[in-house]
Amino acid sequence: MKRREFFEKSGCGLLGLMMAEFGFASGQKEGAQAPKKKMSREDMVKKMLMEKMGKTEEEADTMIIEMKEKLPMVKDMCICKTCPTFVAEETEVGFCHPLVGKSKIITEEKGCDCPKCPVYQKMSLKNGYYCTRKSEMEQEMAKKG
Ligand code: SF4
Ligand code: SF4
Repeated sequence: MKRREFFEKSGCGLLGLMMAEFGFASGQKEGAQAPKKKMSREDMVKKMLMEKMGKTEEEADTMIIEMKEKLPMVKDMCICKTCPTFVAEETEVGFCHPLVGKSKIITEEKGCDCPKCPVYQKMSLKNGYYCTRKSEMEQEMAKKG
């Protein structure tokens, strides 16, 4: 119940906030001081939860667990593979989810079927082209500046 409330009430907004922040922050790491080891997306979300959202490590870990539990459902319901923008070389789906984020392969936008997806409707998503424009949360964050 708690997990459901989190996702339904936040619409993953907090996570989006974090991911957006982190996505933009990645540019700050470029250059001589860039870390040699690239952080996993999960680690980035956790870092953002703690450093930008003021979450404790325990709270961040709990949120990450909830996100990970939700991810299989998102991927199962995802209809990206039948979208005109999807490419055969891509193996990932569920780009709207904060733990997935945009595709490393898809670059050309040829129409987005996300609004037809049950995840889109269930999660009350507002954006699209997640494969090229980042997750729902990142896009929402970008709108807020
Ligand atoms: S909303 Fe789009 S990216 Fe998200 S699961 Fe559905 S089709 Fe995939
Ligand atoms: S995120 Fe949208 S545009 Fe990208 S492959 Fe999925 S349905 Fe198509």
